Amino acid sequence: MLKWILSFSALFILSTLTGCSNDYKPTLSREAKFFAPVYQPVTSRVAIATSNQGRDIECIIHGFGDDTVLFIASIHGDEVAGTSLLASLDSYLKEHPEFLVGKQVVMIPIANPDGFVAKSRFNADGVDINRNFPAENRVNNKVNGFTSLSEPESRAIDSVIRIYKPNRIITFHQPLDCIDYDGPAQELAQLLSKTCKLNVKKLGARAGSLGAYAGEDLGIKVITVELPEEAKHLSQTQLWQQYAKLIFTAINGH
Ligand SMILES: [Zn+2]
Repeated sequence: MLKWILSFSALFILSTLTGCSNDYKPTLSREAKFFAPVYQPVTSRVAIATSNQGRDIECIIHGFGDDTVLFIASIHGDEVAGTSLLASLDSYLKEHPEFLVGKQVVMIPIANPDGFVAKSRFNADGVDINRNFPAENRVNNKVNGFTSLSEPESRAIDSVIRIYKPNRIITFHQPLDCIDYDGPAQELAQLLSKTCKLNVKKLGARAGSLGAYAGEDLGIKVITVELPEEAKHLSQTQLWQQYAKLIFTAINGH
């Protein structure tokens, strides 16, 4: 537990120290430029649920507005590069709240904290959280869960979707080296692909996955960023340099 808190805190401290410096500067909208001098940062950080082993599942909210994008990382606990990216994004948005005029960013940096600590794809019950959603194509079994939303981690994500009603959901995985999408997100996937080396590849909605549930069934744009194998060897700064543009494009939605 302590080790996890330290490692997670270290990510955020590191990102603060480095200032997440990179050459990429997102463009401010005309509205954002106009409101920048008077825009007040709005950030909150809440524990939305507790994992089976008692760890907090945290949600960070930046800005407010009708246009909401939800970022999710480490739903598979051994695919952690997205958590570094969200630590960098969190730091950036604290320094530049004006970027979010009219927009809201909601993020769950570690969706599966028990798996994150154990370096395991699964949660502490041995369930794959990304197969535990109430999608029409779900299959009940031990790995997917004997019922939908049987796990606190999947219930937490479902609650965040219901409360914040995101227009777009971006999830980070590894190591399939592509951008996959579900629901009405083909155009967005192609746009994001232009910001980095990842090609669009339709992998197909897996049974009970977040893509099947939120994308295909609820009709929300769902993007699965499958980072390449090499992502696990990259530092937080290197990851940010390679994928900051993708993240800001996802926030802008265009
Ligand atoms: Zn994955």
